[in-house]
Amino acid sequence: MPTVMSHAVAALALGPAFRRAGWRTRVWWAGALCAVLPDADVVGFYAGVPLGSVLGHRGLTHSLAFAAVLAAVLAPLLLPRGSSRAWLWLHLFLATASHGVLDAMTNGGIGVAFFAPFDAGRYYLPWRPIVVSPLGVRAFLSSWGVAVLASEALWVWLASALFASIAWWLTRAYAASKA
Ligand SMILES: [Zn+2]
Repeated sequence: MPTVMSHAVAALALGPAFRRAGWRTRVWWAGALCAVLPDADVVGFYAGVPLGSVLGHRGLTHSLAFAAVLAAVLAPLLLPRGSSRAWLWLHLFLATASHGVLDAMTNGGIGVAFFAPFDAGRYYLPWRPIVVSPLGVRAFLSSWGVAVLASEALWVWLASALFASIAWWLTRAYAASKA
């Protein structure tokens, strides 16, 4: 997995493309939380869930179905009825789904069950430039950890900053053309 911070950064980068008048800060916090939540499945390691099962790591919580349901549960809690909930749903869905996509771009670990619970297959993206993060803190405090941070700085943080800048610029240009 990319580290927790990098998943949150990717979700926050969606902000400039999705923001709407009246959206409060808690919407962005919720998006960041959605992007981090799928890794709650690591408790399965300690609970004896077999790796590769649908409830194992990178299983159901990393699926598109989980992203859709989580977004549907959270959207009504964050915005009142009649406001742009469908747009917020899309934002939260993409924030959650971005987690699996980034995991599928790492060079190690098990594949991502994007289509669980309908398909147990595990998938990677054809392009996997992100160095997989070790699960233990001790392993992270080594040259492996440095390699992880360097690859995430480039492929997650820099890419996110670029995406957010372009989205911000485009939405401003669009608003200016309407004014
Ligand atoms: Zn993950």
